[in-house]
Amino acid sequence: MRTPFIVGNWKMNLTMKQVDDFLDTIKGQLPDPNNVECAIAASSIYLDKLTEYCKNDVHLKAAAQNCFYKNSGAYTGEVSPMAIADMGVSYVMLGHSERRKYFHESNQMINKKVKAVLSNGMVPIICCDETMAKRKTYDEMNWVVNPVIEALKGVSAEDAKKIVIGYEPSWAIGTGKSASGKEIEEACFLIRETIQDLYGKEVSDLVRIVYGGSVNAKNVKEIMSQPDVDGVLPGTSSLKPEDFIKITNFGK
Ligand code: PEP
Repeated sequence: MRTPFIVGNWKMNLTMKQVDDFLDTIKGQLPDPNNVECAIAASSIYLDKLTEYCKNDVHLKAAAQNCFYKNSGAYTGEVSPMAIADMGVSYVMLGHSERRKYFHESNQMINKKVKAVLSNGMVPIICCDETMAKRKTYDEMNWVVNPVIEALKGVSAEDAKKIVIGYEPSWAIGTGKSASGKEIEEACFLIRETIQDLYGKEVSDLVRIVYGGSVNAKNVKEIMSQPDVDGVLPGTSSLKPEDFIKITNFGK
């Protein structure tokens, strides 16, 4: 019912030449989009190149790593959601832990961005974080659902159906230490329950929840076997096309 979704996050990496090489290498190597949907989240400077590539390859979708909540105006240095939608960007990652940590993005700001992305016809990938210190018991896991509740304030059920949630424990990001299948399922189940409380089962059955945090070609299969996990969000392992291809094929 939910098409698996693999979205690589390049972060602030790669040169133009490396982007060209990456796109040349993945051509013809990604799975059938009816079975697995694949996307790359590139920094803004590469979105033009990426969207041009995606126009000729239905196996890949273009994602942005962030955008602003206004379409235009005097916001020096920001990226317009209207402009990237016009370019052909399909998804926008919002609230990544690095955005929250280094750029002080609040849940309120992310909520405005979610609405801006949806109103421009794109799909937000709403990231929610946790810290190791906070993960003690199931009952204490509200830290993972609160950002989801805040990000969705004022979002209609019709729009909520389309969104993707990224469960990304910051202690697992870039550390080489992935959360276990059990830990991931526990959090993703809780996120789905939260969506059900907010919008009902019809919506929660449609929302895709992906996991990010040291995903690689070896652990992707186990992660993808969890019932409430609909995909993965690899960072480091999306930089090399060979690794990304393997992950999109669930490690095969
Ligand atoms: C990320 O960038 O969101 C991420 C999960 O990175 P990594 O796969 O390197 O842990």
